[in-house]
Amino acid sequence: MDARLEAIRDTVLARNPGEGEFHQTVTEVFDSLGPVHDRHPEFLEGAVLERLCEPERQIIFRVPWTDDAGGFQINRGFRVEFNSALGPYKGGLRFHPSVNLGIIKFLGFEQIFKNALTGMPIGGGKGGSDFDPRGRSDAEIMRFCQSFMTELYRHIGEYTDVPAGDIGVGGREIGYLFGQYKRITNRYESGVLTGKGISWGGSLVRPEATGYGTVIFTEEMLKTRGQSFEGQRVVVSGSGNVAINAIAKAQALGATVVACSDSSGYIVDEAGIDVDLLRQIKEIERGRLKDYEARRSAVSYVEGGSVWDIDATVALPCATQNELDGDAAARLVRNGLLAVGEGANMPSTRDAVAVFQQAGILFGPGKAANAGGVATSALEMQQNASRDSWSFAHTEERLTEIMVGIHERCSATADEYGDPGNYVLGANISGFVKVADAMLAQGLI
Ligand code: NDP
Repeated sequence: MDARLEAIRDTVLARNPGEGEFHQTVTEVFDSLGPVHDRHPEFLEGAVLERLCEPERQIIFRVPWTDDAGGFQINRGFRVEFNSALGPYKGGLRFHPSVNLGIIKFLGFEQIFKNALTGMPIGGGKGGSDFDPRGRSDAEIMRFCQSFMTELYRHIGEYTDVPAGDIGVGGREIGYLFGQYKRITNRYESGVLTGKGISWGGSLVRPEATGYGTVIFTEEMLKTRGQSFEGQRVVVSGSGNVAINAIAKAQALGATVVACSDSSGYIVDEAGIDVDLLRQIKEIERGRLKDYEARRSAVSYVEGGSVWDIDATVALPCATQNELDGDAAARLVRNGLLAVGEGANMPSTRDAVAVFQQAGILFGPGKAANAGGVATSALEMQQNASRDSWSFAHTEERLTEIMVGIHERCSATADEYGDPGNYVLGANISGFVKVADAMLAQGLI
């Protein structure tokens, strides 16, 4: 890392002790930015990096609610409004027991660059709670969401901060959150949340957008080597929103997705995952992946273990951060891997990224490859602002244009900075320059 940037990075780490994931993403981004500061000394003079690493606002709040047995439950809520240089804060809400301030800051920091890369007018933010939705009834989920929004409502708004979903937050949760926002404010403010239901202000393609976008970005990478998804053998981690839609799109493009996982284990289905069955189990029944095995022939379920033991030509990590380490990366490379498209945020550890890059694997980092979700959220905001709703075909066409544009931008920036094919460098520099220019133009704030 450039020595000037290393000194700033060290200060950031010391000011934010114990926030491992935040340290990891800051280090990863700073690693790319040395050459930018040679060309743009004004960024150092304007203390852009120091400002960028300090969120504009961080809100932490108590979320009290009652469970079905009448017991009192207390969770912690977060919203980190990281950077509004390009537009209102935009980023999802994560409900998972692992959530803490460091994880929300890592996600918010990534979101700044991702949102810049989309070319849409949106800043970066992220939020969530250490609430565990697993095993909770609908009524408990609703009471939790209502309590969460009872504090969050005063911090958000269509011109201020626009949350969406992430792990543990899908259409059901967005519905309960929107209902409570409307009730408290007495405003039908569609643009305050994205990921809404289609009949009440949502956008077609939003549920599919992150997974589809990841596959579109990966297809663009494959094209640079004269390849496509046709005939590829694909392994996907996770079996939530991003994973299911990535599987659907990869198979629509002619690939065979042979494995996917959840936090308990993984399934191998050599004939190709049956997406309708997977949706039925995960989205409708809210069941576990294990249930898939009993309902389809020639499927094996492996409890625990790593889905990355299965050989593949394309890997799409779509579950969570740091789920693919250096050993798993080396195994995948030995087994004939061509490309990795990150549907999740920071799923590959720094060691894994180094293994992929040294082996010349096409590697699409999350902040570029999974930007289709937030980009389609911005399309939802556009539809809300114009009180319009677009067709599936038109919205998907816009998503495709955006993903192809992000690929072009990352690729052109990597070329410009003398490291062709390095999408990590391309994404970090391209996103950063756009935000840094806007921050300098807006003065010291
Ligand atoms: P979901 O809650 O729909 O699904 C998450 C999936 O990942 C589930 O299969 C879950 O398994 C698995 N998972 C979660 N945590 C772990 C863990 N610690 N170890 C192993 N498996 C785990 O979330 P999404 O699909 O929405 O999000 C997945 C990833 O994509 C996240 O990194 C998110 O930040 C990122 N992302 C999501 C976007 C979106 O639009 N939703 C946009 C951009 C990025 P289980 O059911 O067992 O918990």
